[in-house]
Amino acid sequence: DAAINRIAAGEVVERPAAAVKELLENAIDAGARQITVEYADGGKTLIRVTDDGRGIVASDLPLALARHATSKIDGSDLLNIHTFGFRGEALPSLGAVGRLCITSRVAGQAGAEITVQGGRMGETRPAALNGGTIVTLRDLFYATPARLKFLRTDRAEAQAIGDVVKRLAMAEPFVRFVLRDVSGDGPGREVFRAEAEQGDLFAALHGRLAQVLGREFAENSLPIDAEREGLHLTGFAALPTYSRGSAVAQYLFVNGRPVRDKLLVGALRGAYFDFLSRDRHPAAALFLDCDPTLVDVNVHPAKSEVRFRDPGLARGLIVSALRHALAKAGH
Ligand code: ADP
Ligand code: MG
Repeated sequence: DAAINRIAAGEVVERPAAAVKELLENAIDAGARQITVEYADGGKTLIRVTDDGRGIVASDLPLALARHATSKIDGSDLLNIHTFGFRGEALPSLGAVGRLCITSRVAGQAGAEITVQGGRMGETRPAALNGGTIVTLRDLFYATPARLKFLRTDRAEAQAIGDVVKRLAMAEPFVRFVLRDVSGDGPGREVFRAEAEQGDLFAALHGRLAQVLGREFAENSLPIDAEREGLHLTGFAALPTYSRGSAVAQYLFVNGRPVRDKLLVGALRGAYFDFLSRDRHPAAALFLDCDPTLVDVNVHPAKSEVRFRDPGLARGLIVSALRHALAKAGH
């Protein structure tokens, strides 16, 4: 079973940033309002995610680490996914490829802790903490040196972690995010911080946009709000002068999930086609929301592609809404 876990783990956890993504999604699913992510050496030696969510009942800790035991899918409802988690695979996978420790406390109960190493689970022990959950993952891939070899430099892996945190921070403007690099002996270095936004969703998104991409970017972005046949598009698209030399400032979400989808990126490009040269990339934070049955966001667990029931509709909505906004702004 440990071998199966290791193989499956490779699907879910390709690199430290993928582990961070899974842990962040769990924290968000648990209703956390404050999430701190710490890493050392590009996440290779340490990843720690601390949240103030509802926690895990002590007797459920072994279950949380068992493959598929916690799967929220009942078989009939594959496309109808409202939370991030649904495969029940992340924690068992992480426990198979690293030294995993989960400390958690549900309000009104005693805290508890469990560790897993190379897929072998320890006893559940009492632990002291205020509330919420701390997941610590040390020495990722120590049991699979072949995979360790494929990791990039600490700097590149840290960059990928930062990108994952910023993408989820964009998607969850009411949650406070702090990212710290705790490599070495010192007190560590804060890499990113986004305080919880207030107000209505649109105002919150704009505030978060300023925290993630900068105030100047936010102030030169056009609000987008359009709807077509059950597809709803909201967010902000930057003026063409705020384009970038790469696609780093493209934040795309489908039903709240960060995606990197060819169709959507192509639609974004298409909307700016008349205004940007080929080596420039439009900057935007766009949220496409629809009935979950109209889109499959889980084509592959580690990739972030989506499959729309009507791809033309999604493309058409993005192109027309953005062109309309650009025209109104004088372009
Ligand atoms: P999934 O998210 O697909 O259910 P995971 O392996 O990621 O599977 O997590 C297993 C279960 O452990 C979750 O369903 C949830 O019940 C619990 N869990 C994991 N992380 C947290 C957390 N940070 N706070 C509360 N519960 C958690
Ligand atoms: Mg999960």
